[in-house]
Amino acid sequence: MVREVDYAPKPIDPDFLSKPQEYPETGKHHDHKILAEGIQREDANGNPYPTKLGIHGTHVGVDWETCIADGVCMDVCPTDVYEWAFVPGVKGTGNDKVMEKGSDDWNQYRTDKTDMVREVDCIDCMACEVACPTHAIKINVGVNV
Ligand code: SF4
Repeated sequence: MVREVDYAPKPIDPDFLSKPQEYPETGKHHDHKILAEGIQREDANGNPYPTKLGIHGTHVGVDWETCIADGVCMDVCPTDVYEWAFVPGVKGTGNDKVMEKGSDDWNQYRTDKTDMVREVDCIDCMACEVACPTHAIKINVGVNV
């Protein structure tokens, strides 16, 4: 179940790995890379996103601007790659941390996010990429993590 947000999530750029100027590496989160965090990007309507979140992961890439806490990726993944970023150790639709409007978490993230904590376990089945209602996920087959 997607959470309500005040912007229009845009599908992840499927070519983000080949555009280092647009999506430079800006940090790490657990074992995965973050690209373009802190950089102002535009939503599906051409408006600036209210947050400046990046793309998490490389083999399993998730645009955290696009991810609005649906959780179906966790339900369909056969190898348990994902869990909630703000409820560590927990996965699944409806188990995300709900962020109260106006709170610090809301201001910074709007919603919980899916976290590819076991990115290395991805077997490229594509179930998450197909199922994501906002198209936040791009699986890059052959990219080592
Ligand atoms: S492609 Fe399959 S194995 Fe990889 S993260 Fe998505 S659902 Fe899990």
